[in-house]
Amino acid sequence: MNANRPQNTGACLLVGSAPGAADAPNLLRNEVHELSLVEGIREVALRHARSAGASRILSVRVALADYSSYLEDALAMFWDEACAASEAAGARIEFVRIPAELLCLECLKSFTAHEMNLQCPECGSHWVKPISGDECYVESIDVETKGP
Ligand SMILES: [Zn+2]
Repeated sequence: MNANRPQNTGACLLVGSAPGAADAPNLLRNEVHELSLVEGIREVALRHARSAGASRILSVRVALADYSSYLEDALAMFWDEACAASEAAGARIEFVRIPAELLCLECLKSFTAHEMNLQCPECGSHWVKPISGDECYVESIDVETKGP
């Protein structure tokens, strides 16, 4: 009964990184942006599934920085659309929020962002930038391989 053995590739690849995204105007956060992110995730997933000899992608886990304003619902919706005609069709997409280190550009204190709170705990400034971690990357991919 091991014909369809789920396999975790443990992939950890950057698909999109936007330094300074935290204070970027919301204009950038439109649907086109989210669609292109989803397409990037799909490309990483497909590349790994192929190199692992997988017949199908079961699920993809995506890490999103706490400060990221990407909407998970929107990403999930685009995901189904973007994967429809590929080996990733029907794959689940899961999101995990990761804490991000931010630097206050006012008082130069670094701190960990919690959820969407981007205010410096020291001086209350909103003038901050991310200093570690990527806004979004593929954390792992579960694939199905054909049995021998
Ligand atoms: Zn500060």
